Amino acid sequence: MSRIAYVNGQYVPHSQAAVHIEDRGYQFSDGVYEVFAVNHGRLVGEQGHLDRLGHSLKELRIAWPMDRRAMMVVVHEVQRRNHVRDGLIYLQVTRGVAPRDHPFPEDAESALVVTARKTPPLDKAALTKGVEVITIPDIRWQRCDIKSIALLPNVLGKQQARDAGAFEAWQVDADGMITEGTSTNAWIVTQDGELITRDTSRAILNGITRLAVLEAATEAGLSFTERAFSADEAEAAREAFITSSTSHVKAVTRINGKSLGNGHVGELTSRLLDLYMDFVDTRGGPEKTDTWN
Ligand code: PMP
Repeated sequence: MSRIAYVNGQYVPHSQAAVHIEDRGYQFSDGVYEVFAVNHGRLVGEQGHLDRLGHSLKELRIAWPMDRRAMMVVVHEVQRRNHVRDGLIYLQVTRGVAPRDHPFPEDAESALVVTARKTPPLDKAALTKGVEVITIPDIRWQRCDIKSIALLPNVLGKQQARDAGAFEAWQVDADGMITEGTSTNAWIVTQDGELITRDTSRAILNGITRLAVLEAATEAGLSFTERAFSADEAEAAREAFITSSTSHVKAVTRINGKSLGNGHVGELTSRLLDLYMDFVDTRGGPEKTDTWN
């Protein structure tokens, strides 16, 4: 079965989907994106993704290519045409096509591309196997709250991780504090059992998965702290994990070559994964979706 993509008003075979060479996304990375997880046929955190997209677009003064409802019709149609029950939907908006020149064009229309692909359903065994992360300097810009398609530092960081045999790289700011992974949010559990993830600011992307885990933890009566933590604190942690629409809640069992705890998935990490899986099955995503407004 052939994959179908949506490109500026048309549903086209994925293999033939293309944008203009003067699309400002291609020329300047002048665009934003969202990745929705699809779980048992349902988009996870639909409202949250749309709210965050609205934030990214507003901050960059890019117009919505269509209103939210129409956009979700397109997203669901791409999901349907690709028969995605478990998988990912990718959505990208750029400032559109215009002769190459840095200032905003006066009359360009925002461009919209939506693609989809299937992935295996959420799998607890795979997510709790445990991966390694390394720490690297955070060389990104100062607006990481915007989900910009300008991902070169993230690409370089992820490759550095892979070259080191690790799954993810946690980026460290000038104060020695971890911001987030190259495509995931970072979490630790201290030796005292304190669950920590960095507070939201312009230094990180506020993940929809992050918000879902925080809500699921709150409902289960688990406490947590939203604060910055250092690379040293991470190495000394009892447990760690990463969250994203692609990685869900994924156990981290090694940091910079050193094992955490007993080297296996932590108890709280495992519990939070269960809570998250239950949360997305029953709720579909986080309720607090006005974080960006
Ligand atoms: N931080 C960064 C830098 C990311 O690219 C992502 C993935 N989009 C996340 C965090 C996690 O966000 P989400 O849970 O919404 O996928």
